[in-house]
Amino acid sequence: MSSKSYPRVGRTSRQQKWDKLPPKAAPKCSACDQPARFRVDVEVNWFRGDDECGRACADHKNDAIALLAGIERHQAEQKALREAKAAQS
Ligand SMILES: [Zn+2]
Repeated sequence: MSSKSYPRVGRTSRQQKWDKLPPKAAPKCSACDQPARFRVDVEVNWFRGDDECGRACADHKNDAIALLAGIERHQAEQKALREAKAAQS
């Protein structure tokens, strides 16, 4: 696999403070429902300003495609929520 293919996982940092949170407050993995353990930057192209910030469990911390799909799904849900709220007011 080429090192220039995207998406790919960039900076990953273990978030030990998340381990101490109660399960309901702990952030979930962007790709699944497991508690997240890592903060992960997903690089989508060569512009670092476009990196997507995700959260990952141990199983997904190297899975850029699954994380990016989850991040995009979450962003779409947030956008739909905002639009639904705007339509009500
Ligand atoms: Zn996961």
